[in-house]
Amino acid sequence: MTLQYDIMQNRLQKLDVALQDIQERDDNIYRVIFEADPIPVDVRKAGFGGVDRYENLRNFRNSDLMIENAKKIDELSNALAVQARSFNELSATAKSKAEMMASIPAIQPINGKNLKRGISGFGSRLHPIYKIHKMHSGIDFAAPKGTKVYATGNGKVVAASSDHGYGKHIEIDHGYGYKTVYAHLTRFAVKKGKKVKRGDLIGYVGSTGSSTGPHLHYEVIKNGKPVNPVNFFYNDLSPVEYAEMLKVSSQINQSFD
Ligand SMILES: [Zn+2]
Repeated sequence: MTLQYDIMQNRLQKLDVALQDIQERDDNIYRVIFEADPIPVDVRKAGFGGVDRYENLRNFRNSDLMIENAKKIDELSNALAVQARSFNELSATAKSKAEMMASIPAIQPINGKNLKRGISGFGSRLHPIYKIHKMHSGIDFAAPKGTKVYATGNGKVVAASSDHGYGKHIEIDHGYGYKTVYAHLTRFAVKKGKKVKRGDLIGYVGSTGSSTGPHLHYEVIKNGKPVNPVNFFYNDLSPVEYAEMLKVSSQINQSFD
C-alpha cells in the first residue's frame, strides 16, 4: 500500500507541474493579451477550510500518507476548476474582441488600385464651390461614376437617403462608438436597416449633392466626432503605402467636397 501511495504521489506531482505550466501561460500570456488581470495566487491555491474533511481517514496506520494524498487531490481539483473558469472568461473576451475587430472600419471604401491621384484629405481644405477654407470632415476619393463602394466594417445601415450637401449618402453604424458615411453616390446597393459585413457592396460613386465631379466623400465618426479616415485603412495598406497616402492626401489643397 505504501508503494502504491508512493506511485500515486509521484503522478500527482507530475499533474501539479503540468497544471502550473498552464497557469503560468494563462497569467503571463493569455490574460495579458486580453488585458485581464492575473488570477491572485491565494485564489489559485485556495484550500478547504472549516470542518475536517479528512476525519474518516484518521486512525489508520498510514493516515498521514492517505490524508496528504487526499489533500493534494483536493488542491489540484480546485486549481483545475479555477483554471477552467479563467479559460471560459477569456474565450468570451476573445469572442467579443473578434466582433469588435470585424466592426471597426479597417479598409478603404473603394478599390485601392487607382488611389494615388485624386485623394483629398481630412482637415482644412479650400471648398471647391465656395472657394473658402473650411474643415473637410472626411476623405475624397476621385473615381469614375459607377465605381463600387464597400462597407469598411461590419454594421447596420442607419441611413440611405439624399440631401442637399451629401447628395445620396449611406451611413453605417458599426457599434463601439463608430459610424461611417459614404456621400455623393449615384445609387444605393443597400437599404436602411440592412446589416452589412466589411467588404459588402453598398453603393456606387456619383456626383450627387454638393460636388464638383464624381468622387466618394468618406467619413469615419468616432463618438460623434469626425476623425481622419486615413487611420482606418490598416487592413489593406502596407506601411509604405500608408505613408504615401498620408503625403498625397495632405498635398491636395482643395476638396471635392
Ligand atoms: Zn469630401
